[in-house]
Parts: sequence; structure tokens; C-alpha cells
Amino acid sequence: MFKFISFGSGSSGNCYYLYTENGGILIDLGIGTRKLKNHFVDYGLNYFSGIKAILVTHDHADHIKSVGSISKKFEIPVYATLPVHSGLDSNICMRSKITHDRRMYVQPGVSFKIDDFNITPFAVPHNSTDNAGYMIEHNGVVFSLLTDVGHITDEIASVIRRTNYLVIEANYDPQMLEVGPYPYYLKERIRSGSGHLSNLFCAEALVANHTDNLRHIWLCHLSEENNKPEIALQCVVDALENAGIKTGSSLPVEVLRRKLPTGIFDLV
Ligand SMILES: [Zn+2]
Ligand SMILES: [Zn+2]
Repeated sequence: MFKFISFGSGSSGNCYYLYTENGGILIDLGIGTRKLKNHFVDYGLNYFSGIKAILVTHDHADHIKSVGSISKKFEIPVYATLPVHSGLDSNICMRSKITHDRRMYVQPGVSFKIDDFNITPFAVPHNSTDNAGYMIEHNGVVFSLLTDVGHITDEIASVIRRTNYLVIEANYDPQMLEVGPYPYYLKERIRSGSGHLSNLFCAEALVANHTDNLRHIWLCHLSEENNKPEIALQCVVDALENAGIKTGSSLPVEVLRRKLPTGIFDLV
């Protein structure tokens, strides 16, 4: 058994849960603790002893809000790169801080184990202190999450090629961003190589690095102002189909909801 649920995806809070019969790991915790508890109850998950660890991608508010408080409550370790840990220390959005004994430092390309999960962090360019994606293997099945992606690097491309179940950012539609309400400097920041991934760049990365390993794609972190689920989905599906890659039952492509859970997905 290996399952995945998204509890929220986007600027109002990111939180993903991967679990087996022995418990699970949270990736990012940008939603409130009460909300997290309610989701665990709704899904019949073990809130009090199920969570073994928290992996943090980067130190932006929408990814870290409850990291400190859940780490403290359940006495669980928090895995992040050294720069992200120092970013968390000074970030006022995360009020409860992580005690020193619960700080676990990860490095891109250096694999580690949490119970029966084999985890390999990889570098993701973004305008935070630092940013890591995570490739997580359990029983030969590979799940990867890459969010807040300024641009696709060779390392990210090779992660996509090795992945069976992929969560990848499709943040904005270039046209909507261009004519949208954001000030010019912010538009430039989003579309820079250390900002976010557009639907188009996401689609390009998927086409360029598609292999038969890939079984399911979830699009994450869609902008509320500069994207629409149907536009992101169409862009990615069209690109894959035009490249001769069949989507649908052979390769489902789905959009993760911003404020509501999406799941439970079986990773088999
Ligand atoms: Zn970010
Ligand atoms: Zn974000």
C-alpha cells in the first residue's frame, strides 16, 4: 500500500501526504493545524501517530505555516536544506520554531530513508532562501513532487524521466499573467527563471522528458489570478497528445484543487 492525498495546493496553502500502512510523511504544511486534523479525520487517517516526518520544499509562507507547531505537537523531525532551515528560523509566518534536535538537514542528490520511504532531494530554482523537490521511492514505485519551479534544470529533467507518479507546478497562463492585475515587477518576478513554471513550460518539460515510467500527472500550485484549471489541463494534455503521448486512462492528467483535498490516490 502506498497512497497520496493533496490537502491543498497554491498560494493559500500547500500540503501533501504520502502514506503506507505504517504511517506517512507530510510534504510542506502551509495549511492550519485545525484544517489538517479535520482532513485526517475525514479520510480516516491516524492523526496522532501516523505522521512520521515533515519534508519542507522551501520557506515561503504558503508552504510552512504549521510546520513548527505540528513538529512540536507530535515530536517529529523536519527535513529541509540548511538554508531553508535558517529561513524557517527567521520567518515570522511560522511562529512555533523547530527545536534543534528535530532539524534534519538534507542535500540535493543525497538520498536518505524515513521508515520504508527512500527519499532523494533535488535542487529547484526559485526566489526563496533555497528550494528542494523530493523524489520518494517505496517498494520500487517512484513519486516526485516539484513545486515553485523557476525553470527546468537537467537534474529536474532526469527526475521526471525516473518518476511514476508526478506532481508538477503549472502556475500561470502567460497571456493571463500579461494582461492580469499584478504590478509589472511582480509579473517579471513570476516569469523569471527563479519564479514559477508556466503551463507552457510545464507542458514542454513533460513532453521532452516523458518515458513509459510515467503513470499519473498532477498539476499543482495553480495561480488564482493568472490561471484556470481548465486552461492548465488543456495546455498540458494538448502538448502531450500532439507529441503522440496518449493521456486519459493510460496517463491521467489532473489538477490539484487549491483549497480542498484531492485524493486518495493509490500509487501501485
Ligand atoms: Zn514559493
Ligand atoms: Zn508557493
